[in-house]
Amino acid sequence: MTHGLDLERGVGEILIDETALRARVVELGAEISADYAGRDLLLVGVLKGAVFFMADLMRELTMPCEIDFMAISSYGVATDSSGVVRILKDLDINVAGRDVLVVEDIVDSGLTLSYLIRSLRARKPASLEVAALLTKPERREIDVPVRYVGFEIPNRFVIGYGLDFAERYRNLPYVAVLHPDLVPSTA
Ligand code: 5GP
Repeated sequence: MTHGLDLERGVGEILIDETALRARVVELGAEISADYAGRDLLLVGVLKGAVFFMADLMRELTMPCEIDFMAISSYGVATDSSGVVRILKDLDINVAGRDVLVVEDIVDSGLTLSYLIRSLRARKPASLEVAALLTKPERREIDVPVRYVGFEIPNRFVIGYGLDFAERYRNLPYVAVLHPDLVPSTA
């Protein structure tokens, strides 16, 4: 199967394997279920990277919940998030008065998330929190309150479990560092 070999050629060190991902998602699901017990939660996923985490996390939640998605694009160059983002796809569901949990794949500088939070807060949800699978604390440029964090990782470009490099590698079942041969020189 050349496809599998091709995919794995881009993979460097595995940072979080499938077992660890699964265990942490179960823990986060239990924590969120306890915190939101008796409430009707709206999960807001940020396309595309968060889809995988969101699908697994949602199946661990024990209260009623809905999902919706937003797609955003940064105006900055690819490797340097400017924090000015454009909404490519907005929510279908009205968030006013709702308990909203934004589900993100990774928080890097925090600029994208910070913009998103400001935009959602203006729509007057009853509550607004963030769950991020990964965070790179070293890279943070703006303080964003992330209530649920899966893993803190070092400042390295990662792929897998939803995270891409040039739209590839999202289907890896683990989180790995992009192979050094493929890391863009500006990253
Ligand atoms: P921020 O605005 O926090 O700097 O950027 C967050 C976005 O940058 C994430 O939602 C993700 O799309 C992208 N990003 C940041 N770090 C990585 C990484 O290590 N790997 C991948 N694939 N995307 C990343």
